[in-house]
Amino acid sequence: MNRVRLLPEHVANQIAAGEVVERPSSVVKELVENSLDAEARRITVEIQAGGRSLIRITDDGFGMSRDDALLCLERHATSKIQRAEDLHGIATMGFRGEALPSIASVSRFVLTTRERDSDSPEGTQVVINGGRIVEVKAAGAAVGTCVEARSLFFNLPARRKFLRSEETESAHTQHYLTLAALAHPEVSFTFVKDGRTIWQLPAIKAGAGEGAPMAALRERMRQLAGTLPQLIALDVRAALHERVMDDAAEPGAVADSSLQIRLWGLIGAPGVARSTREEQHLFVNRRPVENRGINHALIEGYHTALMKGRFPVCCLFLEIDPAAVDVNIHPAKREVKFRDERAVRGFVSRAVRDALLGFHIPGESKPVAAAVMPAAALPAVEWFGAKPPAAAVPPESATREPALPGFPVAPAPTPVASSAPLALSFLARPAAPLASEPVATSPVVSPSEPVRPSLAAGSPTPLLSVPLRVVGVIGRLYVVLESDRGLVLLDQHAAHERILFEQMLTRLERNEITSQRLLLPETIELGVRDATFVRGILPTLTRLGVGLSEFGERTFLLDALPPMVKAPDARNFVVTLIDELKAAGEGVNALRLGEDVIAKTVCRHSVKANDPLAGPELENLVNDLRHCAMPYTCPHGRPTLIEMNFRELEKKFGRTQ
Ligand code: ADP
Ligand code: MG
Repeated sequence: MNRVRLLPEHVANQIAAGEVVERPSSVVKELVENSLDAEARRITVEIQAGGRSLIRITDDGFGMSRDDALLCLERHATSKIQRAEDLHGIATMGFRGEALPSIASVSRFVLTTRERDSDSPEGTQVVINGGRIVEVKAAGAAVGTCVEARSLFFNLPARRKFLRSEETESAHTQHYLTLAALAHPEVSFTFVKDGRTIWQLPAIKAGAGEGAPMAALRERMRQLAGTLPQLIALDVRAALHERVMDDAAEPGAVADSSLQIRLWGLIGAPGVARSTREEQHLFVNRRPVENRGINHALIEGYHTALMKGRFPVCCLFLEIDPAAVDVNIHPAKREVKFRDERAVRGFVSRAVRDALLGFHIPGESKPVAAAVMPAAALPAVEWFGAKPPAAAVPPESATREPALPGFPVAPAPTPVASSAPLALSFLARPAAPLASEPVATSPVVSPSEPVRPSLAAGSPTPLLSVPLRVVGVIGRLYVVLESDRGLVLLDQHAAHERILFEQMLTRLERNEITSQRLLLPETIELGVRDATFVRGILPTLTRLGVGLSEFGERTFLLDALPPMVKAPDARNFVVTLIDELKAAGEGVNALRLGEDVIAKTVCRHSVKANDPLAGPELENLVNDLRHCAMPYTCPHGRPTLIEMNFRELEKKFGRTQ
């Protein structure tokens, strides 16, 4: 008896719809992507009842002929790829030819379209009900395409039940539209919900020149959000050295190749963060994506500029050869896979780190300045001088070829930079002062360099680059300062932590950790497991200034503590430290581990942080902070400074709207 048979077309389409059409927002996504692929300049999205009762997308793209309008509703009918090889270099949003037939199979569907390049004033209308064609007719229509999907899942009651509340569903749609609007400032978007216009984003004409896309992006963000948090512009290009499988040569063989890559966009300044990833927008070749590797890279790049459990705010565009990224791994194309994940991850994390460091550049030598300037102003791709994150990228993955035509070759890496591990190398600038600056006699604490013009079009001068005058201290903790822009508050404790943290790192890097001997060495007895663990990290502990030596099977002798730590109970301090090191995990690189532990140690045990300061001491504090590499956050990512400019003050006092 034969049991196997082919499914009817409309059933096959419904099955495909199960993958592609999860909820109303997936319909919106597929249709808007089609409009973008059709070079639309104006896209209107209407939904009713969260998209359950109506979804309508209207565009002014190139439209379709009558034949195409019928064919596009067949499964695997697409104009975007032709051969299997095309899958390796997809430049359009769509390529599977599945969306329209899938959507049409689970809704009451009307497609109206008129071709741009046709002389006929008539368009075509196709009406489909749950996958079955009801009517095809000529119809008067504007150039472009309008797709209407009513009663989504009307023929799949089980599916319909899974839809969430109208608000939730329309929030999903709005989230997707935000992404589409960010990626395409040149397109005007209108969003209408239950008859009410929620957005009307005019198209932003991108001017000429290198900085134009960045300006357009800022403008689009402003259209969407109103006021923006403090953002840093970033634009970095590089040639990545990839290691990829080359099965053509020999199964399992690895070949080296070089890959042009660019990351540009805006990221939150140090201290700007959110409790969710909601404002973290990532695009690969303009496609909104989720990629765990890049998420990690961002957090890695922020490092001490981000609080634990908080997420960066960003809108970043990665541009990469389509052949080096696979977009065909997720039914809704939400995830992508890079040919060399590690190289991309390392690139992103360095780009972000350098941009953050570049936000505040106290020294003459600015190994990181390139990242924050518009690409046109790049003196050289200095980028390769810094060593990639030790754990994330093998050293050979950074090449020193000219990044892109027109960019000179980077200077050779300095020995300091190339021998210092990531955790410390960001301090590897020649003039990191350990001692305080001479006491300022004037009450105005001026930056040691002339005030630099704004870093990138539209971003204000960083706070520590403008003169600050100490007004006083409140609550024994908050220093009140004044700048020509307004009011500034400094958290004395957080500032102190940052300063001590960086000083300690510099010392570590220079192998200058001088530990303070204890008057009375103490013995510490540990459990078998802890003892084994501690034996493995004794060299690290020594580097951190903790004088611990073996004194028996499970006994250790503690005879020194790091400077700045004043633990009344030395033994307790060491036990806590060991616990923290253990908790940090064994996979973590030893120095990186040390860094985090230092941060914690300094925070909890620093002597000076809580002492009340006055006069010149306060000015020194501000000066010392200026000399930090990452002065705007404490080592835990909490802000050290808060600014309230005159505009905000005026608003608060009701002087302006
Ligand atoms: P895909 O986008 O993967 O090609 P779809 O099912 O989404 O598959 O669309 C099928 C085809 O219909 C597209 O390749 C395109 O040629 C055409 N099409 C769909 N939407 C539009 C539109 N808004 N404007 C012009 N052509 C469209
Ligand atoms: Mg499509």
